[in-house]
Amino acid sequence: MLKHWFKTFSMAEMLQGMFLTLRIMFRAKPTVRYPEERTPYSPRFRGMHALTRDDAGAEKCIGCKLCEAACPSQAIRIVIGPNAEGGRSAVSYEIDQGKCIFCGICEEACPVDAIVHTKQFEYIAEERNGLLFGKETLLTVGETFKEEIQEAKAADARYR
Ligand code: SF4
Ligand code: SF4
Repeated sequence: MLKHWFKTFSMAEMLQGMFLTLRIMFRAKPTVRYPEERTPYSPRFRGMHALTRDDAGAEKCIGCKLCEAACPSQAIRIVIGPNAEGGRSAVSYEIDQGKCIFCGICEEACPVDAIVHTKQFEYIAEERNGLLFGKETLLTVGETFKEEIQEAKAADARYR
């Protein structure tokens, strides 16, 4: 009982709390002021998709449809047709980013590293259709973030 009264009247717990605040106040801050400041992203970060081209500028996608078959949310739709070289390729390639759960399975399934994830996640659409990315959009994303994609692949290469 005496101990309890002493604690109450001496405000020991409040002083303890204030001391703790004072101690933490001068430590390095674990929070960042997003979007001005950013934490580093993993090379395996799964953001917006991109379709890539090889060094000669040709589309890497060979139209095997493995990514479409592997996608658990059926977000990928591919139409195969003849290409200019007499072979087969994806004449249409669509990913519905609204359905996508960013699991990365399409990237894992692709035998030629044609479909990849970028680190881009800050994008919006005002209509549902705006999240349906067609082949040209995906190729443009691939060109725009080519260096970022290559750096991420190189950083992760030893674990693959
Ligand atoms: S990340 Fe997953 S859900 Fe999204 S398209 Fe690829 S396989 Fe489908
Ligand atoms: S992106 Fe890859 S897995 Fe998908 S159809 Fe093209 S080559 Fe096949």
